[in-house]
Amino acid sequence: MYLTLSDRLAPVFALAASLALVMSAYAADGHGERASEPAAEHGEAKEPRLKPSLKPDLKAEAKEGRDEGRSKQASGAQPKAEAASEARTSVPMSELRDLIDQKIAEVRSKREAAPVVRLRPKPRAPVRLDHAEKLAAISPLMNDTQGALLPSGAHGSAAGAHATGHDIHWAYTGATGPESWGRLKPEFQQCMLGKRQSPIDIRDGIAVQLDPIQFEYRPSGFRVIDNGHTVQVNVESGNGIVVQGRRYELLQFHFHRPSEERINGRQFEMVAHLVHKDIDGKLAVVAVLMENGKGHPLIQQVWNNLPLEKNTEQASMTQMDLNQLLPEQRQYYTYMGSLTTPPCSEGVLWMVMKNPASMSREQIGVFSKLYQMNARPIQSPSGRLIKDGQ
Ligand SMILES: [Zn+2]
Repeated sequence: MYLTLSDRLAPVFALAASLALVMSAYAADGHGERASEPAAEHGEAKEPRLKPSLKPDLKAEAKEGRDEGRSKQASGAQPKAEAASEARTSVPMSELRDLIDQKIAEVRSKREAAPVVRLRPKPRAPVRLDHAEKLAAISPLMNDTQGALLPSGAHGSAAGAHATGHDIHWAYTGATGPESWGRLKPEFQQCMLGKRQSPIDIRDGIAVQLDPIQFEYRPSGFRVIDNGHTVQVNVESGNGIVVQGRRYELLQFHFHRPSEERINGRQFEMVAHLVHKDIDGKLAVVAVLMENGKGHPLIQQVWNNLPLEKNTEQASMTQMDLNQLLPEQRQYYTYMGSLTTPPCSEGVLWMVMKNPASMSREQIGVFSKLYQMNARPIQSPSGRLIKDGQ
């Protein structure tokens, strides 16, 4: 009688027990803060029957994914139904509990394996560019557009360049190449989203009379650095240009191979970018295209002072006359663009000399040993006005 009754009641008990378990599991899936705590405890109490590895998952789940409620509700129904059907076959209650627990654990582990994006916040590293990167990125512009912390004196940055490793690696090819720059770091998103990016293919400019650029270049001391993206020459202060009544101080110049800018589709062997900054932090870059021809004495001076190691400045024992870098005919194209390296900040005044300078095959060969290709692809002109100086 007693046994019979017990047998009859067993499914009822089992069902009640399974319901309770399912409910508590359901609560553990993050339906309210309070539910999470007992659920986690429940997980611990059942530890011997659960795989040990599942324990942290239970806790983690209790804390996370409140918005996954729907899917969890759906999966919560599954063990419930199965438990009920097993209860009808009079499985002993303790075993039944184990089965339910196992089922719940299974469902969870499956869900764990599912490609759900977990919002585990990574520890936020402070955003810092190393020195070489700052220099390579023609960093002073970031004062205006990016709000990054930078040395206020341009020559502070130029003079004291001692690079100490890279926070973010960017490159000209591969996974961290130009197509990915904008996604490497929030500060780089202009590379992807900007509408006034450089370089461009210079064509269909309007023919106008442009005031000549007044070059105030004089013999200067310089330091050469291979910053991992290009060879850069940091020039001592006192050199500058005057354009439209504004004076821009020369900070540095560096090279790309092949030329980043094109003129009516034509790309040149190399280009030198002379980077200037005015008192308000606005940048003006003069581009001197380089074609194969006779050797260039100033470039030879730079190559002579190439440091043996990357990110190490070598100070030249001699001075350079920067006027040598300029072509004799100084008409130019001008347009508004951006840095051609991350962070691709905009608001840069570009002046591209129409006439190229020349350098020898050997001199081009020296650079290509270091950088076979370090040119950003052409960007959309997006209807920008280009002036073609006559
Ligand atoms: Zn450049």
